[in-house]
Amino acid sequence: MRPLEFAVAFGVTILFAAHSVPAKRVQTVDDAQIVDGASLVASGERVEVFQHGVDVDPDFLRVCEQAYGRIEALTGRKLDTSTLGPKVRIYVSSAVVISHVWKGYDHPQDPRGIMFLNPRVYEAALRGTNATYAHEMSHLFTWRFHSHTLREGLAGYLALQLHPGASVGPNVDGYDASMRIPAEIVDYLGTKRPPPDWLVSDAARRRAYYYASYRFVKFLIDREGMRAFLTLYEAEDPQAEFTKRYKNSREELVRMADLSRSSESQSASEGDPHRAD
Ligand SMILES: [Zn+2]
Repeated sequence: MRPLEFAVAFGVTILFAAHSVPAKRVQTVDDAQIVDGASLVASGERVEVFQHGVDVDPDFLRVCEQAYGRIEALTGRKLDTSTLGPKVRIYVSSAVVISHVWKGYDHPQDPRGIMFLNPRVYEAALRGTNATYAHEMSHLFTWRFHSHTLREGLAGYLALQLHPGASVGPNVDGYDASMRIPAEIVDYLGTKRPPPDWLVSDAARRRAYYYASYRFVKFLIDREGMRAFLTLYEAEDPQAEFTKRYKNSREELVRMADLSRSSESQSASEGDPHRAD
């Protein structure tokens, strides 16, 4: 996902710094047009796959049905079919630049069980090397959110549970590398702050934001389990729940999560808490 592509996908007008990557393609067809113009490829018990301007292998349905079952099992949550519709509808479209759920970040204002994938993400999903499709599907299972970082972190966590080491969203190199997390991003974690404006215009900070969100959520789930995490996630004000559910403040937990290091480098550097990478 490149910043301009993202901005165009969500109808945002922004200016770019000189170092920004120029867009190769823009999404000129809106999501409703994709839904109207797509054709059904395959329909399963819980998922429907559609194609739009691209040929989709009907076997993708099996991949998606499997992911559905695993996300259900990992979260212990059923899809909210009374709100989202009976099946998850997946549109693979040549018009989609950045994969997203219906309405993107504003999905809760018009919740539908619809997600859009670009052909690159779909093809890599068939090979098991890109888990963005599972990230987007996770958003549908946990569509009521109050903290954007917890939302993105949870979707990253679930996607990587399904496909360890895969690319997800803006982190095309996966999540195993270490990354320095700027303090301004740390300040967002686990809060109700709306996503920052630079999230759509600054690719490096965008990667760090998703990475830190994932690391923080993984830390919380590793510590108290999925059930406790989802109670926090679903709370009206998650920030107010940290002390009650995790016995530490948000600030303390963020520090304890040691966001900047991958699990790989953590185990490699055990006994050396000052290692900086
Ligand atoms: Zn997401």
